[in-house]
Amino acid sequence: MIYNLHACGIFGEEERALSARAFPAPPSDGRTAFERDRDRIVQARAFRRLAGKTQVFTSRASDHFRSRLTHTIEVAQVARQVAGALNLNADMAETLALVHDIGHPPFGHAGERALDACLKEHGLRFDHNLHALRIVESFEQRYAGHRGLNLTLGTREGIIKHSRDYIIQEHPELAEYFPGQRPPIEAQLIDLADEIAYLTADLDDGVESGLLEIGHIREQVEILRQSYLAVERAHPEAEEKYIFHDALQAMQKTLILDLIRNTAENVVLSGAKSLQEVRALDHRVAVLSPAAEELRQQEKRYLYDNLYTCPAMELEHKKAEEVIQEMFAFWVNFPEELPESYAEEVRSEGLARVVADYIAGMTDHFILLQYAEVRRKIRLGYRSVKGHPSSAGDSL
Ligand code: MG
Repeated sequence: MIYNLHACGIFGEEERALSARAFPAPPSDGRTAFERDRDRIVQARAFRRLAGKTQVFTSRASDHFRSRLTHTIEVAQVARQVAGALNLNADMAETLALVHDIGHPPFGHAGERALDACLKEHGLRFDHNLHALRIVESFEQRYAGHRGLNLTLGTREGIIKHSRDYIIQEHPELAEYFPGQRPPIEAQLIDLADEIAYLTADLDDGVESGLLEIGHIREQVEILRQSYLAVERAHPEAEEKYIFHDALQAMQKTLILDLIRNTAENVVLSGAKSLQEVRALDHRVAVLSPAAEELRQQEKRYLYDNLYTCPAMELEHKKAEEVIQEMFAFWVNFPEELPESYAEEVRSEGLARVVADYIAGMTDHFILLQYAEVRRKIRLGYRSVKGHPSSAGDSL
C-alpha cells in the first residue's frame, strides 16, 4: 500500500537546503545529492571495514552469520522499502541506512561498552553516532580537495539524529543540525528499520549458531508464533527450517507494514503538512503501533534473555572487553606505539580520544592481531603495560 507523505519529505526547496556541503562539490552528474552521498559512503574505507566487524557473533563458527556490513545492507533494504511506500525520499533513507553503523567499534556492543568504560576514566564518552560523524567529516582522507567525505547537511544530520536527540548545551559542536527539532522522517525511520532488520536476523543467526532452538522460539516469541502457524498451514509438509525461514520473512513484513501504516497515520494525526512542521513536533512519528511495539519488545526481551546474555555469548563479550581494555591501556601508556600519523591528532584531541578513535576504526581481526603482537612483546620482556601484570595469559 502506498501512502503519500511527499509534502513532509525531503524534496524541492527542502532537498536543496539539505544538500549543502562544507566544500564545493563538482556539478551534478545526473545523480541526486543523496545518491552522491550514498556512493561516497559505499566507497569509504570505513564502510568496507564493516565486513570485519561483529554484528552479534564474533566467532566465525558459521560463514552465514551477519557481519555489520551485511546487517547494514539489510537495514538499507528495509529503509528503502518504508521510505518508498510513504512516498518519501528513498535515496536519502537508503543513504542513512548504509552509514548508520559506520561508527561502530570492533566486537559489537560489547566493544562499544568497553571503549566507553575506558574513556569514562578520562572524563570522556564513546558514542557511535558522534564517532560516525567524525569519520565522515575528518577521518576518511581520500579526496584531493578536502578532508572527509564532504557529505550533505541532511546526511550528516541523519547520522547523529536517526536514533536519538542530543541536548545542544551538552554538544555545542552540533549547532548546525537543527537542535531541539525532530529529524526528517527519512532519518527517523532508520532506527526502526535497524530494529526490524536485526531482530529478524538475530533469530536466524541464533538458530544457525545452535544457541537458539526453533521450537523454543515458536513457544516464546509471540510475533514469530503467529507467522509460523500461518506458514505451517500453507505448507504443512515443509521441513521445519524452511517454515522457520518463511515465518521470519513474514514476521519482518508484518513489522515493516505496521511501521509504514503507523507512520502515515501519525503524520495525519499530528497535522504536520511539511518538513518544518514534522521538525517542530514534540515526538517522533516513525514508530510502530502500540500493539506491534509490544510484540517487538517481547521479541527483543527474548533475544536478550536467551541469546545476547547467554553464557556462550557472555564469554565472547568478556574476551572482547579484555582485548579493548588492554589495547586502550597499552596505547595510552605508550603513545609512541601509535602510528606516526596520529601525533598531530593527539595534540588537538588529546591522547585518550585518539586512542579510542584508533581502536574504534579497527576490525575484529585487526585488533586481535595487534593484541597478539602486544602480548608477544610483553612475553619477550619488551615492555610491561602499566597497571597490568607483565606475565601474559592466553591470547584470544
Ligand atoms: Mg544497526
